[in-house]
Amino acid sequence: MKVNVVTADCVPILLYRTDGKAVAALHAGWRGTYARISERFFQSLPEEWSHPGDWHAMLGPSIKADCYEVSEELILRFKAEFPDLDPHVIEPTYRRLDVTAVNEHQLRKLGVASTEIHPDCSRCTQTAAGEFKYCSYRRGDRHSRQFSWITR
Ligand SMILES: [Zn+2]
Repeated sequence: MKVNVVTADCVPILLYRTDGKAVAALHAGWRGTYARISERFFQSLPEEWSHPGDWHAMLGPSIKADCYEVSEELILRFKAEFPDLDPHVIEPTYRRLDVTAVNEHQLRKLGVASTEIHPDCSRCTQTAAGEFKYCSYRRGDRHSRQFSWITR
């Protein structure tokens, strides 16, 4: 089984079960993050598969807070939707939204066995040769995306 997710700044969330019996891939832009996509994913599973503690999560390269300026209104919506999350985690600097951190918070709260976060920013991380490493919608890519996939 192979599943993939296509992104250009949004957070690709790859999941696998501890017993190796299943994998999944989620696409978490700010909308999916706000709508608690991880929680919805576990709710959508049949009972025997739906225990988050049986799953590991990996968050792939995506736009990090430093590069993700949003409206003040959107920041306020996130702070209202996630009152149990430190507001400085949601907005580490003024009007910069940390979508990765909000997803990590959701996954941890659900109780997944582990969460790994890829450190690269899709907008600004460059190769040793000085070229941008990833496709980034915010940086201007309109027709290219990157694939993240997981197989079992
Ligand atoms: Zn960046």
